[in-house]
Formats: sequence, C-alpha cells, structure tokens
Amino acid sequence: MISLDMALSPEDAAFRDEVRAFLAEKFTPKLREEAERQIGIFADGDLSRRWHRVLYEQGWIAPNWPKRFGGAEFTATQQYIFAVECAAAGTPALPGMAITMCGPVIMRYGTPEQQDFFLPRILSCEHYWCQGYSEPQSGSDLASLRCRADRVGDEYVVNGQKIWTTHAQHANWIFMLVRTSQEGPPQAGISFIVLPMDTPGITVRPIVSMSGEHEVNEVFFDNVKVPVANLIGEENKGWSVAKFLLLNERGGGSAATYLKSNLTQLRRVLASDEGGFSKMLGRPAFVRRLAELEIDILAIECSERTAIQALSRGEAVLDDAMASIQKLKTSEALQTISELGVEAIGQYAMANQGPALFGGGNQATVGPARALTPVATYLNMRAFTIFGGSSEVQRNILARTALKL
Ligand SMILES: Cc1cc2nc3c(=O)[nH]c(=O)nc-3n(C[C@H](O)[C@H](O)[C@H](O)COP(=O)(O)OP(=O)(O)OC[C@H]3O[C@@H](n4cnc5c(N)ncnc54)[C@H](O)[C@@H]3O)c2cc1C
Repeated sequence: MISLDMALSPEDAAFRDEVRAFLAEKFTPKLREEAERQIGIFADGDLSRRWHRVLYEQGWIAPNWPKRFGGAEFTATQQYIFAVECAAAGTPALPGMAITMCGPVIMRYGTPEQQDFFLPRILSCEHYWCQGYSEPQSGSDLASLRCRADRVGDEYVVNGQKIWTTHAQHANWIFMLVRTSQEGPPQAGISFIVLPMDTPGITVRPIVSMSGEHEVNEVFFDNVKVPVANLIGEENKGWSVAKFLLLNERGGGSAATYLKSNLTQLRRVLASDEGGFSKMLGRPAFVRRLAELEIDILAIECSERTAIQALSRGEAVLDDAMASIQKLKTSEALQTISELGVEAIGQYAMANQGPALFGGGNQATVGPARALTPVATYLNMRAFTIFGGSSEVQRNILARTALKL
C-alpha cells in the first residue's frame, strides 16, 4: 500500500508510540477476530459497546472533545495519528451517533444542566444513541418531515414515524427532529428533541437489508410524551441544530483512514492462499484496478493532510464543495474496494453466507473463512452513496457551488 510519510515532531512520534502500545495491549486477538467479521458501516452493537468502553477507560473515546467536557482534546495531528493507527490495527468502526453527532450538539446548544446530564453518559456509553431524522417521505428533502410534537403543558406529545434508524434496536436514547409548528417555511417549524427509547408508545420494527443484516429500523411514535426539558436549543429553531449535526456527521472522521481499514480487509482476502485468492495478485487487470484504487485513496489522504495543516494554522478547513467532493470520492472508493473483494473470492460469491454471518439459520460458512464477508460487505456498501447526503445531492451542491447558483 502506498502511503504518505508524515514528518512527526518528537512529541507526536511519542504519541504515536503510545497509541501503538495501547492498541497492542488492549486490542486483543479476540476483539480483532470479531472486528474482522464486521461488514457494516459500524461495528455491531455489542462489539461497539465493548470497544467504546476500552477507549473510554483510556480517556480517548472523544479525541476532539474539549477536556472541560471530558474529551481527550487531541491536537489535529494527534487525532489523525490516532485514526491512522486504529485503522492500521483494524479496530471496530464505532457508531458516530453519540460521540460525533449528539455530543457536539449538546456542547453547542444544550443548557448547562443538559450538558452535565448527557455528556458523561455519552462518554461512558451508558447512553447508546440513534438518529431519528429520516422519514418515509423525507430523506434528501429532510425539511419536509412530518413527525409532529404537539405541546401540552410541560410536555410534547409525539406522533409519527422515522425510518432507516441505524442501531435503534441497540439504542436506549434517540435524538430526533420533530415538527412543532406548521407555520412559515418548512425549516421554520422544526425542533430537536431527545428521549429514552423505552418511553411508552415507541415501537421499533427491524428492516433486514439485502445482505441479511439487521442494522436499520423503522421507529413508530404513538402519543409519546416527552418533557419540554428534553428540547435541545430553541423550539422551532431545530433546523440550525440539525445542520450543525449533519456537518459533524460528514466531517466527523478521517475518510482516508476508514478507507485504509477497508483496504486492509481486502488485502487479507488477497493474501489468502486458502481458496486460491492470492492468485488475483498475478492478474494484470485486477492489479491495475487495485493500483488505481490506492491512488484514489492517496489523493483523499493528501487532501485530508492539507486540511489538517490548514487547521493547525488556524484556517478554515472544509467548505461545502470540498465536503461534497470528499463524500463522493470516499463512497466510490469504498464501493470499489468491496467490488474487488467479491471478484477476488470468485465462485464463493454465489453462496448465501448471511445465516453464517448474522445467525438466524444453521448454515455453516461455505468455503474458506476469508470468503465469508466480501459479498455482505459489497451489499452493505451500496448504502454509502445514499446516506449522509446521496451522491446526486452532493453533485447538486457541487454544481451550485461551481455555477454559483
Ligand atoms: C444504511 C442506511 C442507514 C441510514 N441511517 C440513518 C439513520 O440512522 N438515521 C436517519 O435519520 N436516517 C438514516 N438513513 C437515511 C438516509 O439519510 C436517507 O436514506 C437519505 O437521506 C436519502 O433519503 P431517501 O432514502 O428518502 O431517498 P430520496 O431522498 O427519496 O432519494 C431517492 C433518490 O432520488 C435522488 N434525489 C433526491 N433528491 C434529489 C435531487 N434534489 N436532485 C437529484 N436527485 C435527487 C437521491 O439521490 C436518490 O437516488 C440511512 C440510510 C441508509 C441507506
């Protein structure tokens, strides 16, 4: 794998060694084995919780949070080193709903009481969060959402539905957008509220994806009572909160390191003589696609490094156009990695490995162990061009930016 060498100061080199020593000790062979079986965007709920706790106990679960809120407050370079080392080790990809999305919103818009209550519980993973934004008719056009919260005294009464809610089956809290006013433009009547998932009137219904995985859900709200104290920010001003969160969702991690971690999985398949997968490395057409992919990842890494350097000089990092380019290129590269994985395992791609991977059947793995995950990963990665702003929506943003419409 081609990689960019980063000249590290002695302090940063010492930090890198500290991270390596920590991972060598705490990322145990058992955790590694489980992480290698993950095919989703995020590791499954149980593994996520366990790895989250390991990082929490080290004080590193929130690398970019300020120390006063319990974060590690790493410098931009340290955050990057940490992400690179975790990716190289293949640690589980933790769901972003808590640390990356909800936490920063509460730091920015929450009252001191809300900060005191929620932030420590987000850090410790006592609260496991899911994101209730999308609805059956409101995805890309999020401002059209209809799930309503009617104020009755000191409570909101919530009625409606959310969909594609990742890990709602594991979550004990949800942050969500609700309509609190029908007046004015659609953006004007939205509020951001948080509530426990065991509140009476909430029903979670699984959506099993084409890979056989249960990652997303429908969530129904039937006269669900939520204290007004659970409003984050001002009533009817939730659109600003929603946009702030989406910015963190898109820019809340290092795409290059995530890509490299996926590439490492592909490399493991390609290194496997069992099943004859290593023969792919002798096929010029395949090797050429692999090399092109690595160059694309290198380009993404290059632009991230440029952004880190700008950040350490105190300059603005991502504008809308750059964020959209990053999202597009990252999605394409991830999908290419998964396509090469399917190609590499040849005829084993025809087997349905869902029951062996996710349970729910008595079917054993078909073929070598390395043939287990590539198809499920391929199917799962189709979603990358849909969530977090679909590719079409990103291209619209780029067109608007370029044409200054
Ligand atoms: C795996 C997965 C996990 C998800 N997790 C969550 C979650 O945890 N919480 C949550 O709230 N949501 C979640 N989502 C929902 C996700 O944010 C939406 O699917 C996404 O915003 C697209 O909305 P939609 O599905 O309604 O499709 P639509 O918005 O109906 O889009 C359908 C198609 O039309 C295209 N399109 C739409 N508008 C335009 C336009 N103006 N110009 C050109 N083309 C357009 C889109 O690109 C797409 O191809 C998840 C989705 C997936 C697939």
